[in-house]
Amino acid sequence: MMSSGISENASRKRRASGTGSYRQENKILKWQGKQYRTFTNKLVPAKPQPERKVSCKCSYKCRSLTYKRKLELYKQFYETDSAKQGTYLTGLINIGNIKKRRRRGTYELAESSQCQCSIFYTVPDGSGNLVLVCKRTFLNIFAIISKKIEILVKKKKKMGETY
Ligand SMILES: [Zn+2]
Repeated sequence: MMSSGISENASRKRRASGTGSYRQENKILKWQGKQYRTFTNKLVPAKPQPERKVSCKCSYKCRSLTYKRKLELYKQFYETDSAKQGTYLTGLINIGNIKKRRRRGTYELAESSQCQCSIFYTVPDGSGNLVLVCKRTFLNIFAIISKKIEILVKKKKKMGETY
């Protein structure tokens, strides 16, 4: 007797049921800075925590921020929900006119008409003050990419034009 041994392909692709909630879950993981899967099932690693070492050689106050404080900022940021994360960062980004160096060694603000706007990054130090840090440190603390800043700056500049 011949058995109709057509081995049914057991590895039928499993479809995630309730994809809606599945996606939502990943969205939350994403803004929490945790490991998540994209809809193409690509695994995105968790956001790295800020570096302990201050490796920049800038003239800002990066060194005055303790590692502990940086971790706090990182944690707070990823506990904030996604809609507020952008607002939070925007509030820490300051767009100002670049300070031009005069021959006599004094610094002066450029006229706004020839605005060579530069961007300053600040972070709260935990005792009510804002500390000026360089972009590198700013990106490092919040584990964000430069592109994200560019988008926020663009938005902020637009807002500034229309006030
Ligand atoms: Zn720095």
